[in-house]
Amino acid sequence: MGQSQTAIEQSTGSPLTILSEDERMFRASVREFSEGELRPRVAQMDESAKLDPAILKQCFDLGLMGIETPEEYGGAAATFFTAILAVEELSRVDASVGVLVDVQNTLVNNALVRWGTPDQKQNYLTKLASNSVGAYALSEAGSGSDAFALQTRAVDKGDHYLINGQKLWITNGNEADIFVLFANANPEAGYRGITAFIIEKSSPGFSIGKKENKLGIRASSTVELILEDCQVPKENVLGELGKGYKISIETLNEGRIGIGAQMIGIATGAFESALAYTRERQQFGKTINQFQAVQFQLAEMATDLEAARLMVYNAARLKDAGLDFVKEAAMAKLFSSRVAERIASKAIELFGGYGYVKDYPVEKYWRDSKIGAIYEGTSNMQLQTIAKLIIGGK
Ligand SMILES: Cc1cc2nc3c(=O)[nH]c(=O)nc-3n(C[C@H](O)[C@H](O)[C@H](O)COP(=O)(O)OP(=O)(O)OC[C@H]3O[C@@H](n4cnc5c(N)ncnc54)[C@H](O)[C@@H]3O)c2cc1C
Repeated sequence: MGQSQTAIEQSTGSPLTILSEDERMFRASVREFSEGELRPRVAQMDESAKLDPAILKQCFDLGLMGIETPEEYGGAAATFFTAILAVEELSRVDASVGVLVDVQNTLVNNALVRWGTPDQKQNYLTKLASNSVGAYALSEAGSGSDAFALQTRAVDKGDHYLINGQKLWITNGNEADIFVLFANANPEAGYRGITAFIIEKSSPGFSIGKKENKLGIRASSTVELILEDCQVPKENVLGELGKGYKISIETLNEGRIGIGAQMIGIATGAFESALAYTRERQQFGKTINQFQAVQFQLAEMATDLEAARLMVYNAARLKDAGLDFVKEAAMAKLFSSRVAERIASKAIELFGGYGYVKDYPVEKYWRDSKIGAIYEGTSNMQLQTIAKLIIGGK
């Protein structure tokens, strides 16, 4: 108790939740934006299922769309953990903006930083850090968990590829200008034909289809992409031909930590709402937080949240340290999505009838939490990854 910040930082084995000066300042600036600009717009964005363009612009202005991007491309050259803090803080107020920033940083920018050619980086990373939204297009109607069964095909036409197929469930699709899209360029080779392409919205043969009307994260657009003889220049192949499967596995391994961050943000928002409400609401002549049954529920929520946050932060810090993180990332996503759902559900109960209506924020946290068990690999897929890694191969 009473240990100074510096003393804590200097001690060996720095506690996971202790932030560096830079991290603290960054988190404070994201919180200021979330509370001041985002919170007043959340209900309307949820109701209309539309992202406010002013929020999008501010995400760029604040540097939230190129957190890890090197400075030479206009990014903030910060750590992966910093991106995780941004997703957590934004999701504490609105998980739709959380996933906007998450997909941009942990999937799209990440793929370009790791596999982009110098020209691709110069062109696309610069745009993505300053004014262009990115989307990541792997899933199709018939291939979700079994992602490598994708049916979108790319045919070599000399100086360009012709791509045909449809993508489904693509986050940021309505706002995006730049798509990292996976298609099979050599179906005979099975998954070893899968190739990643960088596709611009203006490409001939590319169009946006139906927008989904969702349970939660409603202000985040989720759309179908239609590719009909879509022309993509050869220089827009991302990474090696036939190595798209590797790009998708590796980006999603990191992306999962981002979803974990989204989930602990939702859980924090719901928990804080419940804490404040139970402090005010009176029944039987006292505030309801004076009943031990309510106190114990709050204590359970706080403990769940602490555990989930430690798992997400640890996975992110392992990644930044260049250590193995795949098992920890899968565990963090699995656990934090369960925790977010549990905490948001309990928050509704603690609000009583008021929790069930849209005048209060907790029903939205619950709706938003559900996606954590589905995208970037369902909970069963996380369990499969964890099981494989703990049991080991022959
Ligand atoms: C809001 C939203 C946003 C999304 N954003 C994107 C995006 O930006 N880009 C993108 O590419 N995709 C995106 N997705 C797609 C998402 O990743 C898939 O929905 C997800 O991977 C699950 O695939 P599926 O829907 O086809 O379900 P299925 O794969 O059909 O799974 C149905 C059920 O079967 C279970 N199951 C399947 N196979 C197995 C197995 N082998 N063992 C045990 N259980 C199994 C699953 O766990 C699940 O419970 C998004 C989805 C949503 C809903």
